[in-house]
Amino acid sequence: MELSGWGRFPVVEGQVVASEDLLRSARTAGLARGLGRAYGDAALPAPGSDRPVLVSTAADRVLSFDPSTGLLRAEAGLSLSTLARLFLPLGYFSPVSPGTQYVTLGGMVASDIHGKNHHVDGTFGRFVTSLKMMVADGSVLEVNREQHADLFAATLGGMGLTGIILEVEVKLTKLAAPWVYEETSRIGSFREVFSRLNAAGETWPMTVAWVDTTSTGAARGRGILNAGRWATTEESPKEPPPVKQGLMVPDVFPSGVMNGATIAMLNSVWYAKHGAADKKHVVAPGTFFWILDLAREWNRGYGKAGFTQYQCVMPSDIELYDRFLELFQKLGGASFVTVFKDCGDQGEGMLSFPKRGTTLAVDVPIRDPEQTAKMVRELNAFVLDNEGRVYLAKDAFTTSEQFKRMYPRWEEFEAVRDRYDPDRRFTSAQSVRLLGR
Ligand SMILES: Cc1cc2nc3c(=O)[nH]c(=O)nc-3n(C[C@H](O)[C@H](O)[C@H](O)COP(=O)(O)OP(=O)(O)OC[C@H]3O[C@@H](n4cnc5c(N)ncnc54)[C@H](O)[C@@H]3O)c2cc1C
Repeated sequence: MELSGWGRFPVVEGQVVASEDLLRSARTAGLARGLGRAYGDAALPAPGSDRPVLVSTAADRVLSFDPSTGLLRAEAGLSLSTLARLFLPLGYFSPVSPGTQYVTLGGMVASDIHGKNHHVDGTFGRFVTSLKMMVADGSVLEVNREQHADLFAATLGGMGLTGIILEVEVKLTKLAAPWVYEETSRIGSFREVFSRLNAAGETWPMTVAWVDTTSTGAARGRGILNAGRWATTEESPKEPPPVKQGLMVPDVFPSGVMNGATIAMLNSVWYAKHGAADKKHVVAPGTFFWILDLAREWNRGYGKAGFTQYQCVMPSDIELYDRFLELFQKLGGASFVTVFKDCGDQGEGMLSFPKRGTTLAVDVPIRDPEQTAKMVRELNAFVLDNEGRVYLAKDAFTTSEQFKRMYPRWEEFEAVRDRYDPDRRFTSAQSVRLLGR
């Protein structure tokens, strides 16, 4: 079948194997895939690979849960949406959540995902206590900080290249109440968004800002700041806060509908919709964490040619980001789904993305893939000049040379692959692009 990531580019032919028995399907597989939410080519088979891609989602059993410690063990295909549905009513939640609930535990480990709490809590991998994995020779290993510690550190953020994750053991967060207290503010300029985001990180455990990448003049980079924390028992509403119903985006949009003009219009509407006054309220977790999920299959809005999300992290310096935004605009960039967020320290995963600084994610519609590649490489040159890197879960265009400069532990990572998979059974379109065969 045809396979692609969330960005719908690239599209490749591949064989797929799926079963409730994850180990059985792992026996033949050359790569695992969860819900396909990585944007680029991370979950796509390497060109010419004769091994199928294992889709894990049928293997989603909860295997054990200890309420006294919050320790959950589940199959790698368990989705975050199911986890939330089962565990929020019991007063537990994932310690880290990405901007969508449609990801699997396996995908969360392989991308070592980060969330709005990265500046205080770090990545998902920090809360993972053990993994059960099938490695290249077919053996099944329990992998953690004591056993096969090298493989553990390579697998957190290892983009599926170290073996098939069969089970994940992770410590869930105990909540006083399953709601989020949130404050949002509309902010008129990029500089102020940056300083308010930084200041909010001092007192709030969860922060993020949306930035208008198309506004110009004094309003350039204006935005909306969201700061949140889990609500206390006293703040719990008598009735659950209303949850907006999502709509399904039909697959009818020609590529090109999302262009500079339409994106500028969407940005203005989103900015105006917030209103000038600050907002303070208790909301359902989905409203706070997964606002994007309200438009199901929103990637279809970019048409069949698709889009890429460019996400980088660089030191927290507004001058730097000001110049980055200027370059992005100069290269013709215009983004609607734009996320600005401060990051804490680098985690233990050898290829984990976040490191201390600020991360910016912008969407780039694809019209001509060559042009997009050129733009990404120019942005990469800027990011590299400023000690930054891009997020592999979003990437489809970075060159091998740029990747190796961004991820200084890549040789250590390859040494782990040499030990556990010397013949490179596990590969992806991304791994061939970045690391060769
Ligand atoms: C709307 C949206 C918002 C997002 N927001 C964030 C965010 O805030 N923070 C963030 O960090 N990320 C974010 N992401 C990216 C997303 O969290 C990651 O791409 C995640 O890995 C997707 O999980 P998945 O189950 O869909 O995995 P897939 O996309 O299917 O696969 C991703 C990688 O995981 C590997 N993999 C999957 N399952 C296994 C397994 N069982 N064993 C070994 N390897 C496996 C694949 O080989 C691939 O390399 C977002 C994505 C979208 C679409």
